[in-house]
Amino acid sequence: MSTITRFAPSPTGLLHLGNIRTALINWLYARTNNGKFILRIDDTDLERSKEEFTSKIKYDLEWLGIDYDETFNQSSRFDVYKERFNQLVDLGRIYPCYETPEELDRKRKLQMAAGGKPVYDRSSLKLTEKQKTDFENEGRKPHWRFLMNSERVQWDDILKDKVDIDLLSLSDPVVYREDGVPLYTFSSVVDDIDFNVTNVIRGDDHTSNTAVQIELINSLDQNKITFAHHALLTASSGDKLSKRDNVISIESFRDKHIEPLAILSLLATIGTSNSIELKDSLQQIIDEFRIKTISTSPGRIEIDLLNSLNKKLIQKFDYNEIEDRLKKIDDRIDRNFWETTRGNLDIVEDIKGWGDIVFNSNPIEPVDKEFIKIALDLMPDEPWNDETWSNWTSKIKDKTGKKGKDLFLPLREAFTGMSHGPEMKKLIQLLGRDKILERVKI
Ligand code: GLU
Repeated sequence: MSTITRFAPSPTGLLHLGNIRTALINWLYARTNNGKFILRIDDTDLERSKEEFTSKIKYDLEWLGIDYDETFNQSSRFDVYKERFNQLVDLGRIYPCYETPEELDRKRKLQMAAGGKPVYDRSSLKLTEKQKTDFENEGRKPHWRFLMNSERVQWDDILKDKVDIDLLSLSDPVVYREDGVPLYTFSSVVDDIDFNVTNVIRGDDHTSNTAVQIELINSLDQNKITFAHHALLTASSGDKLSKRDNVISIESFRDKHIEPLAILSLLATIGTSNSIELKDSLQQIIDEFRIKTISTSPGRIEIDLLNSLNKKLIQKFDYNEIEDRLKKIDDRIDRNFWETTRGNLDIVEDIKGWGDIVFNSNPIEPVDKEFIKIALDLMPDEPWNDETWSNWTSKIKDKTGKKGKDLFLPLREAFTGMSHGPEMKKLIQLLGRDKILERVKI
């Protein structure tokens, strides 16, 4: 049976680094096993789901290069869920419940106050037909729970090894709400079965869902699904990530011009037994992927690390690779300009600032006009090459007696208006004699 994995986001917010890591792991697992990767949009909750987020999820994946072989929305499958639900009803595994959310809440609080776990007490299972009719006449609509039969459930988890869960510590799951909407625990199982998913790989916050879902899978079908639960990423503070954490959304990194490969490199290595490092390509990430290296303890997201991967990646870009992009930023940027400035960029778009410095002639008034005047008098004629700067500055040094920082910093500031930047021996060649003379006001 060939491998089939899926990524199943709910379109209720932007994807963040944690979500995309789950997508990436599933995608890599499928790609390294010659399998298929499905994108399932978990949008049964029509009120909270937004088409806008579905489009953004797809765009994020495409931007990162995570392609899917098939995609569908759960909202297109309400009929199928109903059929499977009826199948469970026929098997005697579904029962109607009439508690209001407030009543359930009260029960949970009482159980917790008594030191117990907030597990649904199955009181609706004991209702007589008369009691049910009375509730209906009162205007109450039932929600529907799945009756779990087993006391325990065990599975071999690819990442957590043997997992053994006491089902008595979990509530019978609600599979349909009173308004007729099927809930995730159930619809997900129906889809995983129907789409022949072989591997469900997701965060370990789903471990108890898995226990419940295995009961559902067993009652519906004999399908064999292998589960893997990875530790979740956390914020650098150690706090849980949330969909509201827009600062770590893929969209926000795209807006900040972080490169997809920097994000993928981070996500392929964070929270694994390998060190976090830049990868050359998506292909390298595929080639190196080993699911067992994923750690069961949480990885912390350090944005500085992502920024430094991005900076390293930029150094590797050949001019040909990004020529079109650079021309859009400033069509005067050529190979020489790129190679001179790329070491000073955090993101490719920072090059715009160097374009302004090199091509525009904002006047610069030096602090030590006397010194700069001497420097300008000694400025060699063109053509300039890599030797020009050292020859020129050694003449300035001989004449003024200045050396080190006292020599170089005022020159850099006078010619560029900046106290740091690319190597001056390169930068002056981009500037040229006329630009320097035009710019410096003495
Ligand atoms: N929609 C679920 C979530 O985003 C999917 C979990 C799963 O992979 O089954 O948590």
